[in-house]
Amino acid sequence: MDRPLDYTFVIDAFTERRGLPSLLEISCAACQAYLITYQKDGPGPLLRCYFDRIHGPKDLCNLHDTSPEVLRCERCKNEIGKKGIYEKEDRLAFFLLENSFLIKEIYTPPALKF
Ligand SMILES: [Zn+2]
Repeated sequence: MDRPLDYTFVIDAFTERRGLPSLLEISCAACQAYLITYQKDGPGPLLRCYFDRIHGPKDLCNLHDTSPEVLRCERCKNEIGKKGIYEKEDRLAFFLLENSFLIKEIYTPPALKF
């Protein structure tokens, strides 16, 4: 599976509102397969993966309305999330199903200037 080694954090008004971003590796809770490299802005539990914060794999980057309705583990077909719009911010995201995924924090910058 393609894992990005290079990335640049997306810094915008959402980051400024939520706080320091960190880079997470999300994997399937059922079979441990790698799913997504994701930028989470600020603290708190991970509930959604906004499309504009997915850093890998390539086929899940730059998703739009045409993206799959359901995010599944390619290996075991476990359902991980469903596509939806977070209406408060009008942003497309996968709304994650509780206990379907595992998170590993792979990088948090010591500080970032916004
Ligand atoms: Zn799986």
